[in-house]
Amino acid sequence: MINFICILVASYKTLKMASNTKYKFEWKDLGDIDLGRPNLGVNTNVLVYRLMQYTMRDVLEKHWGAEKTNDFFIEAGYKAGTEFCKNVLNCTLDFDGFVADLSDNLEKYGIGILRIEKADTESLSFVLTVSEDLDCSGLPYSGVAFCDYDEGFISGILNHYTKKDFKVKEIDCWGTGDRTCRFTVDMLTT
Ligand SMILES: [Zn+2]
Repeated sequence: MINFICILVASYKTLKMASNTKYKFEWKDLGDIDLGRPNLGVNTNVLVYRLMQYTMRDVLEKHWGAEKTNDFFIEAGYKAGTEFCKNVLNCTLDFDGFVADLSDNLEKYGIGILRIEKADTESLSFVLTVSEDLDCSGLPYSGVAFCDYDEGFISGILNHYTKKDFKVKEIDCWGTGDRTCRFTVDMLTT
């Protein structure tokens, strides 16, 4: 009987693990926050957001190494950017209108303050900055650009809007001693 129960428990755990690996994020998974937090509301403290992100990075790096962890953050950011574009932004606007809408929403959601420093709308090549960035503004110098999640996020947004692929690279960050995050954005031609 005990063996039977052990088998049942083991099967349940296997099933649970298997079902966990099938999880695929959807916007509705974010839930009805107004309903669920009638007193606390939609806002939280940036410290709490960063606490989750940097402890997550710590654990992922311990298990998978720094390079793989960066890839995970870029991939998660890309998914987030795609869903953010799909569910929050107005993709029917022309490019200037879209950038204005993006800028407004990045501020509205407390993600950062967007500025386009250089734009080549023919080749879809840009240099943009995000100041007061949610992920890194105020971080001490470490010599490392931390905003790989943002790289994926920007790439996901632009891919969903233009249906083209982009290479986004952070070249300045609070982590590298700068006071804004600066990204190069280049459309991939192959
Ligand atoms: Zn940064």
